[in-house]
Amino acid sequence: MPTQFDPPSGTRDFLAAEVARRERAFAAVRAVFASYGFEPLQTPAFERVDVLLGKYGDEADKLVFKILRRGEHEATGEADLALRYDMTVPLARVAAAYGSQLPTPYKRYAMGPVWRADRPGRGRYREFTQCDIDTLGSASPLADAEVLCVHHDAMAALGLTDFVMRINSRHVLFGLLEVFAVPAELGPGVLTSLDKLDKMRPTDVADEISGRGLAANVANDLVAAMTADDALDRIRTVLKPSEIGMAGLEEVDLLVALVSAQVPPGRIAFEPRLVRGLSYYTGPIWELTAAGVPGSLGGGGRYDHLIAQLGGPDVPATGSSLGVERVLMLRPDEAGPPAKMDVAVTVLTDDLAAESFALAAQARAVGLRASVYLGGSAKLGKQLRWAAEQGARWCVIYGAAEREAGAVTVRDLTEAQQQTVPAADFTAYLAREAAARDA
Ligand code: AMP
Repeated sequence: MPTQFDPPSGTRDFLAAEVARRERAFAAVRAVFASYGFEPLQTPAFERVDVLLGKYGDEADKLVFKILRRGEHEATGEADLALRYDMTVPLARVAAAYGSQLPTPYKRYAMGPVWRADRPGRGRYREFTQCDIDTLGSASPLADAEVLCVHHDAMAALGLTDFVMRINSRHVLFGLLEVFAVPAELGPGVLTSLDKLDKMRPTDVADEISGRGLAANVANDLVAAMTADDALDRIRTVLKPSEIGMAGLEEVDLLVALVSAQVPPGRIAFEPRLVRGLSYYTGPIWELTAAGVPGSLGGGGRYDHLIAQLGGPDVPATGSSLGVERVLMLRPDEAGPPAKMDVAVTVLTDDLAAESFALAAQARAVGLRASVYLGGSAKLGKQLRWAAEQGARWCVIYGAAEREAGAVTVRDLTEAQQQTVPAADFTAYLAREAAARDA
């Protein structure tokens, strides 16, 4: 049962060990993004509500966290701002705002939290972190292929190889709507329902589609074609009369061929039932999935007209997003919490506190992490235990005898040996020890 001290459902607090685990993942992903020449972009956590709404499709629009107008306008109950739902629409706004000031192509990465008013569940949060790469200004399939390879390499950098990249194209889906003679006004709804084939039974999806107004026999045929054991062959045959559908198949095949030197064949597959919920996609789309992880690990695709929709130039665009939470579900066993300190300084009596405090400062001045014991003047044994808990390599013991001798005792907690060092040599000694440790 949640208590009053739990964070709101679908959000989490991260204590140090988890922060370290996440930071390691961010660093690995960031290094891959940068290695392909993508540059960073940071945008605000919230946007004007009109920027976000209408870009994702009706279902997703409902999940945008809106922010009520404030102060004297609060009583209107209207929202003028909203928390970002993803990193893509904010990027499109930036492109519309900065236009020609951005390089062409503009290859940018963004990493940070996004918010969705989703129903929380395993691996489904209301606040989660996305790592995005996008290329604006290139209509070349190479741009799609590059984004896909970056995504693939980011997974590899995290030590993950047991996943599948499922590829489709919106043009394949448009072709299917065409050959099954789905009326234009029903198209978006039918695609929304097909998107549920992964989580709902085919008969229920077919019922939902016929509930949207499509003849039941057509809905059944469409779902049967998408879910048959030989769906891949059936879809290729069925699409033959559709120009747009065939163009979609070519896009998929070209993408798979372009990435083949980097992405092994077993890790990439044409998946005609992949829809991707967001309505801004216009060409190839993809999703990464892995056994045991709910939903997808990541996904993306080409979204050529989104920037124009926001009032900017009609720039071609493609991108991919990696969800950190889902990726970390595949890496549960990692090293424990990292050491917090290099040097732990005892405070043996109150009158020595200022000198202990100064010793810690001296240690920091030579680049080591250092702090004093904050628990009052406890026995040395207790302070040594505290030093070990901090992961400190050295415990600096400074008592009346040391003060008398103008010296400092430095205990190496790993080697379990200690040395008395003249106070004047203290920092030089620590610097030498640290250099030896790091060599
Ligand atoms: P999307 O923008 O919906 O395509 O999502 C891209 C990625 O974000 C997904 O592949 C997931 O890894 C991650 N993601 C999406 N929704 C959630 C959620 N509610 N909780 C955690 N991760 C999510």
